[in-house]
Amino acid sequence: MEKLEKQRKIAALIAKIDSCKRCSLAKTKTRSVPGEGDIDSEVMFIGEAPGANEDLQGKPFVGRAGDIFTRLLGEIGLTREQIYLCNILKCRPPDNRNPLPGEIAACQGSLDLQIKIIAPSIICTLGKFSTEYIFNKYGLPLEKISSLHGKLYKASTENGEKTILPLFHPAVAVYDINKYGVLKKDIEILGKLLT
Ligand code: URA
Repeated sequence: MEKLEKQRKIAALIAKIDSCKRCSLAKTKTRSVPGEGDIDSEVMFIGEAPGANEDLQGKPFVGRAGDIFTRLLGEIGLTREQIYLCNILKCRPPDNRNPLPGEIAACQGSLDLQIKIIAPSIICTLGKFSTEYIFNKYGLPLEKISSLHGKLYKASTENGEKTILPLFHPAVAVYDINKYGVLKKDIEILGKLLT
């Protein structure tokens, strides 16, 4: 797809997400958080759902987990502008509770379309929810994130082969900085893949 067409399709999708009322999160959100970054990037990161800061700013990963995420990208010489970043849910669940199955179902059309338009060759899932979603979507054998993280998986999709790299959610290092080492080691696998 040409860049201009991609830009047009992403803009239309963002407008649709902004006015979406498919689940009750539309009533409690401040702003929706569709995603951002380089629409031509070969790498897409998928997190869980917006938190309080993201809900206020309309941007993904701008709170404390976001600081860790940005630092992790830096470990492999990447900036946020070089990748595409979004979440399973585009609106904040109240009190940062886990996404509900009905909310994921209501939002999945947007994520699926986002993946189709951006067409990344590498998808990095951040945490349990996006890992489950992507593994189920591509028919990969799902296990706990604690066994899947930091390993590369191949998925045959309607848009060709994709590499999937499950990662722990960066929030794990917010309360326990000792976990940063595992996050760093795992993201270095992406770094190697890109060199
Ligand atoms: N956690 C997420 O999964 N996504 C965000 O955007 C922020 C925190």
